Parts: sequence; structure tokens; C-alpha cells
Amino acid sequence: MPTTLPPNSPFYRFSTSIETRCFINNTFVETADKFPIYNPSTEELSAQVSQAGVNEVDAAVDAAEKAFPAWSELSADARGACLRRLAELMVESVDELAYLEAISMGKVAAHYPGEVRWAAALLQYFAGLATELHGETSLSTAGMLNLTLRQPYGVCGAIIPWNGPLAAFAMKVGPALAAGNTLVLKPSEKSPLTALCVAKLIPKAGFPPGVLSILPGFGAVTGAAIASHMRIRKLAFTGSTRTGRIVKQLAAKSNLKHVTLELGGKSPCIVFEDADLAAAAEAAALSIAGNSGQLCYASSRVYVQASIADRFVEAYTAAFRKAMGKVGDALDPDTTHAPQADAAQFQSVMGFIEAARTQGLEPIAGGRRVGERGYFIEPTVFLDPGEGSQINREEIFGPVAVVNTFETEEEALQRANDTEYGLYSSIFTNDLKRVLRFAKGLEAGMVGVNCTSPTAPFDMPFGGFKQSGEGREFSFKSLDSWTETKTVMMKM
Ligand code: NAD
Repeated sequence: MPTTLPPNSPFYRFSTSIETRCFINNTFVETADKFPIYNPSTEELSAQVSQAGVNEVDAAVDAAEKAFPAWSELSADARGACLRRLAELMVESVDELAYLEAISMGKVAAHYPGEVRWAAALLQYFAGLATELHGETSLSTAGMLNLTLRQPYGVCGAIIPWNGPLAAFAMKVGPALAAGNTLVLKPSEKSPLTALCVAKLIPKAGFPPGVLSILPGFGAVTGAAIASHMRIRKLAFTGSTRTGRIVKQLAAKSNLKHVTLELGGKSPCIVFEDADLAAAAEAAALSIAGNSGQLCYASSRVYVQASIADRFVEAYTAAFRKAMGKVGDALDPDTTHAPQADAAQFQSVMGFIEAARTQGLEPIAGGRRVGERGYFIEPTVFLDPGEGSQINREEIFGPVAVVNTFETEEEALQRANDTEYGLYSSIFTNDLKRVLRFAKGLEAGMVGVNCTSPTAPFDMPFGGFKQSGEGREFSFKSLDSWTETKTVMMKM
């Protein structure tokens, strides 16, 4: 049985009514196939969730197909109104959402309201863009009026990861529905509870049945059924580069559905000797400490100019420890250091650290589990492990940073770009000409200058170069990937 909270806990009232069923056609559906969710702070069972199989995916696609004509014919303003209302209802449910994320993937409940408000604001942003979706016109051919129509695909699919469950939810739902598509969304098997809680709000927000279905389940079952579905025309995926490759293959082998990919990263952060050292150390540390290192765009690879390396490493390590702060149950209001999402993530991160040790690389800070219960890892820093080392090249997705020292600007740029990833890069310097050279030279979809992730305003495109992705989210530009463009040529 899932653990229950003491009745005096502020979260007690949410613990007795956790929604665990698939949400199809505005109705909750229980399936026989269940999978467990464990609380990563305590390792106790939190819930048993219904897995959607091929039949549930088919039912959701049927409902989405049925809903599409009326939904896409609604005025953009009316679609926007549903998104706005959903955003309001999510903010009203912030405590319940915080509880559910804490007991599934360990987000610190005290920090969570900010994330819910962020996701709600993103939905509202796309609600506003719904009416801005326009085509082009041309009179450049004699005797012709030519124009383009931007039209929704119809039924779309979304597969999202566990590390920012509601953020990823809003990044898919907002533009997909604003553009007039209907959507079948699969949350991660590690963190489906907040999406299912939001599902309770979908009818209340005014969405007609079938417009948005939520199907929990594992990737190889539910995810593969969505990626291979013959009647889903567009798929938006966020997750690892490894799975992105599989999903793209499934899409190609089925109906060649359009695919956008938001994938992994190993983001470099370059600090020059002329930078504000304290500000750079703090920003770089916050970037890797956030969400216990479980962020795609975390500055996990720091390059610091050798002349300031000693001072920087000291400030950075201290800032990293301070940013992670106090270990504890994610529901405890004093906790700031979240656990890794589950046993598999914990073992994966510890595996990277142990593998480095076996190669003779000892971290200069951290490197151990904290406590014996819960999946907590110390803020960990390796110094100059070698450009080709595994910890310098692979995405670890935990509170593990690598600091490398460099001598020249040319060397820094070459090493920063020497990766198959290209999500986010950042540079700290006060030399304007150098800023311009790096803004152009860095091979990344996003470049921070005297700032780093999580800085990412949602009116600007978000996405990666190389194996970090394909297509862009956020911003008006993201609507390109949720619509087909039709050219109409009219003889006058
Ligand atoms: P993951 O690739 O393991 O899983 C992502 C999603 O894909 C999950 O819902 C999973 O169930 C599903 N999936 C797994 N196998 C599948 C299959 N065979 N067919 C269809 N679906 C399948 O990634 P994760 O561990 O959930 O998330 C962490 C990764 O996501 C990291 O690499 C991180 O960098 C990346 N990420 C990227 C962004 C971005 O915007 N670029 C944002 C967040 C996370």
C-alpha cells in the first residue's frame, strides 16, 4: 500500500485522492496493467499507475480525431480562453501539484509554486499567440493573388520526460492546442502524477472531450504506440538523445509523421579572466545545482581561464554547495537539496562518478551519497579530468560538474564546441568583441552572455544544434512546427 501522511501534514488531504488512471475523451480509464511510483526521498511506494497500452492509445486517437473538426473550427480566441482557464486552475492547484511532484520525482515542494506559475504563464503566452497565427500574401505574380494558409495537422502526439513534468507539459500543450491541433500526450513513467492531476482540470477549463488525452506508461509500450501510430501526423518529443533517435525511427517506419526533438546536452560555460568572477561562479553553480543537476541545459562543463582558475574553483565549489543547500524530504519546507528522481537515476549518476574513480579521477568536491535513505548525491566537482574523459563528454544528469582550465580564447571555443551536443552555451567576459566572436562561433541553439541557464525567456526560440535536437520550442517560431503551410494560388 502507498504510504500515508500524518493527518496534521499540510499535504494530507491530497494523499488520499491521487489520480492514477489514463485520461481519454475527458474520462478517466483504469487499466489492468499497473506500474509503481516510488517516493525518491523515502524510497516508499507512492502510487500504482494505470499503463496505457495500444488499445488506450487507439481510443485516445479516435477521440482526438472526432474532436478535431470542431476544435480547429473554434475561433482562436475561444481556444485561447480554454488554455487561459487551465493555467488559472493549475495555479489554484499548486499545493496538490507540489505534493504530487515531490512524491514521484522528488521536486522540492517549497520551490514548486514557481514552476507551476511558470508553466501556467507559458500556457497563457500561447493562448495569446493563438490569434497571431497568420499566413503570407503575395501579388508578385502578374494577375494572381497568392497566399498561404497555416493549418493544424490534426491529431498530434507528445512524449515528455520526467525532469520538468509540468514545464514540458505546457511546452507541448500550449502551442499544439493554440494552433488548433488535438493532442495525445504521454508523461514520463517516473512522473505521471501531476499531468494526471491537471487532467482533472481539463474539462473544468472548457476543453471538449478528446482535445487533450493523457496516457501514462513506459516508453517501449505507450511511447512506442504513439510514435508508431498511423493516424498521428506530428510528434513532439522531449527526452534523451538515445530515445530521440528511436522515436524518429518509429515515426519514419510508420507514417513518416513530422517529428520535433528536444534532446540532451553537455552545455559548456566559459569564464574569462576579465569576467566578474563572483557573479560567474554563482551563476554557473546555480545552473548545475538546479533540480539537482537534472536539467537538459545545465552548465555541466565549465571552462575557466587558467589565470583565475584557483579563485574561481573555490568560489564555484562554495556556491554549488550553498545552492544545493539542505538535504531532506522533498515535502519538508526547509529542504532545498532534492533527491535524484529515482533509483535508476541515482545509480546512473553514481555509476559515472565511480567509473571516473576507477580511471584515477577523484572529485575535488563531493562524490558520495548523502545519508542512507533517499536518492541524494553530494554536489560533485571534477577538475581537469581530460577533454576525452567520459565525465567530460557524456550527459550525467545529476549534481556533477566538470571544471576545465584553458589558456587562450581559440582553445576555449574549440573545446566548448568539441561535442555532439549543442543545446546551450554561455560565456562570461567583459570584452564586447569577444562576446560577438563567441555569439557567432558557439555551436549551440542558445547562448548566454554573462548569464547561463536557466535563463531562457519564452518569447525566444528554445532548442538545440547537432544531436541536442531538431526544431524550436517557445516563441512564435514554435508554432511553425505545429502547423502545415498551404500555398493557394488565385487567378484574378
Ligand atoms: P528518456 O529519453 O529516457 O525518456 C523521455 C520520454 O521518452 C519518456 O516519456 C519515456 O517514457 C519515453 N520513451 C522511452 N523510450 C521510448 C520508446 N522506445 N518509444 C517512445 N517513447 C519512449 O529521457 P528522460 O530520462 O525522461 O529525460 C531526461 C533526458 O531528457 C535528458 O537527456 C535531458 O537532457 C532531456 N531533456 C531535454 C530537454 C530539452 O528541452 N532539450 C528538456 C528536458 C529534458
